[in-house]
Amino acid sequence: MPVNKKTSFSILYVFLAIFAVILVHDFIVATQKLEEIPYSEFKSLLAAGKVAEVTLTQQRVTGMLKPQDISKEQKLFTTVRIEDLDLIKDLSAGNSKFSGTIESTFLRDILSWVLPAVVFVGIWFFVMKRFGQGQSGFMTVGQSKAKIYAEKDTKVTFADVEGVDEAKEELREVIEFLKTPEKFTRLGGKIPKGILLVGPPGTGKTLLARAVAGEAGVTFFSISGSEFVEMFVGVGAARVRDLFEQAKGKAPCIIFIDELDALGKARGMGPMAHEEREQTLNQLLVEMDGFDPRIGVILMAATNRPEILDPALLRAGRFDRQVLVDRPDKIGRLAILRVHAKQVTLGPDADLEVIAGMTPGFSGADLANIINEATLLAVRRDKEQVGLPELQEAVERVVAGLEKKNRVLNKMEKERVAHHEVGHALVALSFPGADPIQKISIIPRGIAALGYTLQLPTEDRFLMTKTELENKVAVLLGGRIAEELIFGEASTGAQNDLVKATDIAKSMVKSYGMSEKLGTITLDRERQPLMMQIQAPQEKGDYSEETAREIDCEVRRIVDEQYERVKRLLTGRKAALLEGAKRLLEQEVISGSDLKAIMDKY
Ligand code: ADP
Ligand code: ZN
Repeated sequence: MPVNKKTSFSILYVFLAIFAVILVHDFIVATQKLEEIPYSEFKSLLAAGKVAEVTLTQQRVTGMLKPQDISKEQKLFTTVRIEDLDLIKDLSAGNSKFSGTIESTFLRDILSWVLPAVVFVGIWFFVMKRFGQGQSGFMTVGQSKAKIYAEKDTKVTFADVEGVDEAKEELREVIEFLKTPEKFTRLGGKIPKGILLVGPPGTGKTLLARAVAGEAGVTFFSISGSEFVEMFVGVGAARVRDLFEQAKGKAPCIIFIDELDALGKARGMGPMAHEEREQTLNQLLVEMDGFDPRIGVILMAATNRPEILDPALLRAGRFDRQVLVDRPDKIGRLAILRVHAKQVTLGPDADLEVIAGMTPGFSGADLANIINEATLLAVRRDKEQVGLPELQEAVERVVAGLEKKNRVLNKMEKERVAHHEVGHALVALSFPGADPIQKISIIPRGIAALGYTLQLPTEDRFLMTKTELENKVAVLLGGRIAEELIFGEASTGAQNDLVKATDIAKSMVKSYGMSEKLGTITLDRERQPLMMQIQAPQEKGDYSEETAREIDCEVRRIVDEQYERVKRLLTGRKAALLEGAKRLLEQEVISGSDLKAIMDKY
């Protein structure tokens, strides 16, 4: 049901037609071979009675001579009209026909309304382009830019995607299902419907989706979310219907929507064009709810900003399965470099391990770019093979390009971040009830975090005890205190931790009545929502200056107590801290159990 192309009506064609008319008009006038003659000659021709007729305007006299010979064409002439009071008299005397016309031509008439219209339309397009999501250029008005790409065989396999082993593992099931849907339905297995690949740009989300199609041997339909959102309400929604219609006819297959966030932004976000986006999004939700995955259609989508997605998209039965596609660690980077190096001839000195070691924080796309740049350099240098110098220079080039986007830490910073993160983790591991540590990483991600310690709760929690809150404060302080212990001073890297620690302590005092000194009262006017979402305390409530001072003292006391406790703890575990950080520097990512093993050794 291809709707858009047929209903399309292009304003451009209207303009083209108008300009064509103008051109033709000019052309006809030009071909009539008007001869410019001096006014004096005109007067003598007139006196000689040779002028058949003239048309007078304010500036010109244009006319026709009497034919000298019947067979000959009448000669056309034009001359500048000068102040001549006798003209009319002479014309009458010469027996010439004459008429006047106001000098305002068809051409000028047209321009007088076409020009403002063009300007207006131009401004309109500019505004739409700037503020709306309607990114069609002038040339594509009304013509859907959204192209559905259908690939019968993507020719990509899992061997082409490296450094994302966990994601690959999770997607194996999808491949199984696409290969033998009967088996799944017979056993009553839960069939995935929508899978959201979440991760930074260039980490291979698209590649991974294509690999799933390639491995399963099914058709791959892809479209980009940003292309869905058109200038005209209804076009995107029709496109969505079209996409699902086509896909259902080709099942088993995969539908992949890149940049889902462009289309699935939470409703009511962003100016203009949102009505169109809403309609498109609603249509997508309708289609997702309406299809039965048992027909063999799997929907996949990619985003690097899952937090802005409309929650409706993530509900059960929609994109309820999320797969993290993160930046690769050192081993992953080496594997990715090897994949891309297959297409080029490497010299014996080209040690990819060295390159993998130089590139923490790089995405798969960045690494592919390194190989490409190095190859270009080798060609420019007339070399037969790509050597280590080219690779190293390519890294520098890519780094220079990335510097603004991405943080690449220097050696000193990396050491600091490693000790900081291990500090957090060691404190967390020391408390029996604390949430387990999943992994500790010094691969920079995003703008804010240089490294991170991933601590995930094992169960949903609705209540927290005082001790647990104190432990949270302690874990947050662990990073800074580790830095102080090892480097003798703190750095700016702990600011965010301190903000969070202080907020927790404040909530304990003000909201949860956990301070003995202030008693079991809540000093916030509004209740905090849920225990788990500890918010920054609100504006000062109804209490005296004196109470405010007491609150400050109590907050300080809680933080100070935890500070002393963590300092004792980490001083006692300094050996584990050093060894853990060393391991982290080597591997960039270590698991919580790795660190636990190190800790237990001492
Ligand atoms: P995303 O969709 O996450 O932005 P892409 O899949 O478009 O990233 O990646 C762009 C290119 O970078 C890929 O075509 C591939 O050449 C390379 N690339 C990215 N990630 C990987 C990876 N994990 N393994 C191998 N190559 C990768
Ligand atoms: Zn920290």
